[in-house]
Amino acid sequence: MNLRLGMLCVLLTISGAAAAAAAAKEPQPLLVIHGGAGVQRAGLSAEEERAAREALRSALLQGHAELKAGRPALAAVTRAITVLEDDPTFNAGRGAVFTHDGRNELDAALMEGATRRAGAVAGVQRVRNPILLAQAVMAHSAHVMMVGQGAEAFAAEQGVALVDPSYFRTEKRWQQLQRALQEERAGQAHAELETARHFGTVGALALDAAGTLAAGTSTGGMTNKRYGRVGDSPIIGAGTWADEGCAVSGTGWGEYYLRTAAAHEICARVRLAGASAAQAGREVINEMIPALGGDGGAIVLTAKGEIGLPFNTEGMYRGWIGADGVPHVAIFADEVLQLPGQ
Ligand code: ASP
Repeated sequence: MNLRLGMLCVLLTISGAAAAAAAAKEPQPLLVIHGGAGVQRAGLSAEEERAAREALRSALLQGHAELKAGRPALAAVTRAITVLEDDPTFNAGRGAVFTHDGRNELDAALMEGATRRAGAVAGVQRVRNPILLAQAVMAHSAHVMMVGQGAEAFAAEQGVALVDPSYFRTEKRWQQLQRALQEERAGQAHAELETARHFGTVGALALDAAGTLAAGTSTGGMTNKRYGRVGDSPIIGAGTWADEGCAVSGTGWGEYYLRTAAAHEICARVRLAGASAAQAGREVINEMIPALGGDGGAIVLTAKGEIGLPFNTEGMYRGWIGADGVPHVAIFADEVLQLPGQ
C-alpha cells in the first residue's frame, strides 16, 4: 500500500467511526404511554386485564406508525391518546368517570417541547376526543386553554367531533359513582374513598426523529368530583409538560399534582439538576407527593431517550415502543418492564 492509499484508508476509517458515533447519538424515536395509576389487582377481571393490555399495545403501535412515517412527536402523542380515549377501558373520552351530579366532564392537554406551544381544554361534556380539541386550541387559536361551553363552541367552529353526552355513559363507571356515593353517605374515611376514585387517565409522550419531545394527557377526572372541578391533567406544568429536554404526563390524585406543579417539577430536576428520568420521577412521585398525602404515578421521557415510569400505587397501566417496533406493556408493580438500553 503506498502512502496516499494508506492515508485514504485512515481517513475513511475515521469518518466511518465519526458517522457511527453520530448515528449512535441520533435520537431513536420513542413513544411512552400510560393508562392511569390506581389500578388494583382485585378490581380487575382476567377479561378486563386482557382488554387493557391489548388496548395499550394498539395505542403504542398506532402512535409509533406516526413516528415511523416521519411525523412529529405531537402527531404520535395525539394518535396514541385518541386510541385510548375511544376505548371504554380508560377514564378518558368514552370511559370517563362520573361527577357527583352524574355527568362526564372531560379535561385534556397537549404540549410540544421545542416550541413550548401548548393547548388545553377543561370541563367539556360533548367533545368525543378532548385531545383533538386541545390540539385545535394549540394550533388554531391565540390561547392555551379553553373551558366548558366556550371550548365546545370552538370545537364546533373547528370541526372537532361533538357527541351527545350519553356517548360517555358506561355502566361500569356509573356503578363506580354509585359506590362512591354510598361510601360517602356511610362516612367512610376520606383517604379510603379517594384512593378508589382515580383510575385510568391516559397520557403519552413521544420523541421524534428530529429530537423534539411532546406530551399529552386526557381524563374524565375523579369519580364523584364536584361541579366545575378541574384536576391536574389539563394544567400545563401540573399534569402535562414538555420542554427541550424532558416530557411528563401524570396520573393520580390531581389536587396534589397541582400543588406540586408535578410535571414541571420533574422536568426542572432534569434540566437544572441533571437528574435522570427515573431519579427525577422518583423524587416527585415517590417522595414529594406521598409526603403531602397524595398518590399516583407519571411517565417521563428525556431527549436522551431515557424513560422513567414511577408510581406509588399497586399498578399503573404503562408501556413504550422504540426502534424495533415491539410494544412493551405492564400493569402491576411486580411486573418487570425492560426499558430501552437495558
Ligand atoms: N389526575 C386525574 C385528575 O385528578 C385523575 C387520574 O389521573 O386518575 O383529574
